[in-house]
Amino acid sequence: MQAGRLQGKTIVITAAAQGIGRASALACAREGAQVWATDINAQLLEALATEHPAIQVAVLDVRSEADVATLASRTGGIDVLFNCAGIVTNGSVLEGSEADWDLSFDLNVKSMFRMVRAFLPGMLARAQAQGSTASLINMASMASSIKGFPKRCAYGATKAAVIGLTKSLAADYVTAGLRANALCPGTVDTPSLRGRIASAADPVQAEKDFIARQPMGRLATVDDITPLVVYLASDESRFVTGQALLVDGGVTI
Ligand code: NAD
Repeated sequence: MQAGRLQGKTIVITAAAQGIGRASALACAREGAQVWATDINAQLLEALATEHPAIQVAVLDVRSEADVATLASRTGGIDVLFNCAGIVTNGSVLEGSEADWDLSFDLNVKSMFRMVRAFLPGMLARAQAQGSTASLINMASMASSIKGFPKRCAYGATKAAVIGLTKSLAADYVTAGLRANALCPGTVDTPSLRGRIASAADPVQAEKDFIARQPMGRLATVDDITPLVVYLASDESRFVTGQALLVDGGVTI
């Protein structure tokens, strides 16, 4: 049997109970990785744990420094950290509240600062011991420094910050054995997107509007995104660092 592309790698993924994080956990496990799938939703994590023997689950609130430190001491050194957690808050600068802004930055950006500070020393030590490079994948979005979208003031600002953070980490650790890249999807059909559509004044029109901004005429599925996660996690991307990689179905053509 052919070895998986992630054989021998240990990966931690945040927000892995549903959506892109969950699909990534499964895709990485199928490629031979040992996966720590983490989320705040214990019930959904339990269901995920039954789906593949290489997936171990742990409840983790990325907003909690104590939770993050506990998880890092449980996992020990890892090869790949995929910071996937993030939320969308809706609204222009005048519509969004200061609370939305603070929550967005805490969950979408500061959580990555917390995770990296807790996991990076173990990642670098493991990479050095194995003569490999560790891979950090940070979830950004096409809605960021790449492109502006209406009603995405706080969200777009946080995802631009994720790209800046990622480039800074890539620059600081390029000679120390870390690669850091940001993943920038277009609109992906996930439970949170379904929630945004359902809560619109006219859900049918809202779905049409999301699709209309995708030149390929459809939303992305999670399976359009996971191949890039596997690639960035694997040694196939060993010469790739500091990049914001788009998978947007042509929105930014
Ligand atoms: P989702 O929004 O459907 O699910 C998010 C998961 O995050 C849930 O399982 C939830 O329990 C978990 N979560 C919420 N708060 C948490 C916390 N404090 N700690 C840990 N976990 C927490 O998933 P999605 O739509 O796949 O989005 C995942 C990431 O992808 C986000 O960062 C999002 O911004 C980004 N993204 C999504 C899209 C899209 O269209 N869906 C596009 C671009 C980028």
